[in-house]
This record gives sequence, structure tokens and C-alpha cells, in this order.
Amino acid sequence: MSLTVAIDIGGTHIRVAVYNSNSTAPIAHQRTRSLANEPGVYGRLVQAIEAVWPEEKVDAIGIASPGPLDPYTGTILATPNIPEWQNFPLATKLCEHFDVPVYLDNDANMAGLAEWQFGAGQGHHDVVYITISTGIGGGVIMGDRLLQGYHGMAAELGHMLIDPEGPLCGCGHHGHIESFSSGPSIGRYVNEQINGGEKSSLQAHPDLSATQIAAAAREGDRLAISAFKRAGYYLGIAVANYLAIFDPSILIFGGGVSQVGDLLFKPLEESLREHTFHPHYLDDLVITKAALGDDAGLLGALALARMKVE
Ligand SMILES: [Zn+2]
Repeated sequence: MSLTVAIDIGGTHIRVAVYNSNSTAPIAHQRTRSLANEPGVYGRLVQAIEAVWPEEKVDAIGIASPGPLDPYTGTILATPNIPEWQNFPLATKLCEHFDVPVYLDNDANMAGLAEWQFGAGQGHHDVVYITISTGIGGGVIMGDRLLQGYHGMAAELGHMLIDPEGPLCGCGHHGHIESFSSGPSIGRYVNEQINGGEKSSLQAHPDLSATQIAAAAREGDRLAISAFKRAGYYLGIAVANYLAIFDPSILIFGGGVSQVGDLLFKPLEESLREHTFHPHYLDDLVITKAALGDDAGLLGALALARMKVE
């Protein structure tokens, strides 16, 4: 029996799981706080892996990590949650320590890969996965292959430019789709509107969450409803662009903000129909929610490692 170790590095937790060759149910599992802002993340990661390391032979380690990163060299270029990982050769270090091949890619790509192999995208060959939470990320499968790109930085769907005069994005540029439609961007918009005199049942607060705004919208709060309309409208523009580039058969939406449902997706689909350059892109196009939840990164890391070993 051959085993694979999968790792998901999150801002708050590191998860490590061991799988045998034909299952997506882990035979061992370890979850530890990453304490990403405190030094020693790498040491804590090694400890977590050692805690589940099996006696049988491990074929490979797969890792899902926040990026940007270089999947070809296995190097983390920079990751906002873990300041000490600048140009950090994570795959090489773990390969030397555990003496097995180590494969690494960014968490959104890995979630997309997992949804295609094990989740909502099974049976499709051309998949666009979009996650909407504190940021917006993406993963793209084209012709049954994960799209990585020349630099390994393909499918950064959250940094699709919508309006160069638009709000400041988390990346430092203006007007990317993330700056309109991520959870914090929706909260920031509502806060600005209330501070500008708009009436709302919500109190102005810089950290208003998409969940709070969705609850207000369901109670009929007009500002809250309009905030999701606006976010969906801009997402529709971004998705029209994705269709023109990738022409997928399925769009899979993950991340917490996607859970608000029709509040976001009705205006999104309306805007998509309005902005797509040809309606044929929409024929038989499946628009659906992600199926794997919090396990998507881990299962993507598993899928990556298995694909590389095969
Ligand atoms: Zn950006």
C-alpha cells in the first residue's frame, strides 16, 4: 500500500492528513494552530507532519499554501499571513527532511483541483473555480489539466481588473474584482455608505461582515440588499471575462461569501447575461456551489501529489 501526506497551510491552522492510495478519507489527521504571525511556523509544521508520519512508505507530500508561490520550485515567494516566509524554499526543505518528493501549489488552485477530482466538478473537463471570502481566488482546469502558467501564477481570478479607478485591492492595486466583491470589500462599502448618510439597520463599523450584512438584507435592509447587488454586478463582469478566456462547462463557487445564495447570485447571473459577449457561452453552463467545504485545500494537495506520482 502506498501512502500520501497532504498538508493545508491556513492563516490560523495547519492541517496534515495521511491517505492510502484509493481513498479520500484520511487514515491519520493532525490539526494545529499555525500562529502564522509568530516565528517558527516551519518548525511547527514539521512537528505536525512527524506526529502523523506512518511506518509504511510515503510516496509524496502535497501542500496547499497561500501564495504567491512558485509551484515549479516549491518556493513560497511571499504570503501575507506568514511574514517569515519570504522566498522560502518550503518543498526543498521538507523533501530533505522527510526524503520524499514534495509538491506545492496555492490554496485556491488546490481547492479547484479538489472540486474537479472529488467534488462538484467531477466529470467535467473545463472547470473554473472561484472562491469568495476574505479575498477572491481561483483555480482553473482546462482539458483535464490544472492551469498553472509559465510562472506558476495563472488563475489569479481575484486580481482581474474591473476598473482602474476602483477601490484599493488587498494586493495594492486598484479596482480588481476582489476590491469590489470580497467579504471585507462588501463590508467596507456598506460602512462607507452609512458614514455618508445612507439609512440602514446596520451600525457603521469598519469590520462589518458579509454574514451580518446578509442577515440585514434578509430582514429587508435596502442598503444591505444593494451592497450584494453591487458585489454581484461586478462579479458578473468578472465572470463574463472568465468565460471569454476559459469557456468552461462549469463554474464552481466556494468560500464563505458564496453561502449567502440568491442575494449575490441573482444579480451575478443577471450581470453575467448582460456582459457576456456571446450567449452561447451560457448554453449548458453549470453554475454551482463547491461541495467540499473546509477540506478542499487538503484534498487538492492530495490530488496534486497523486497526479505527480502517477
Ligand atoms: Zn488585486
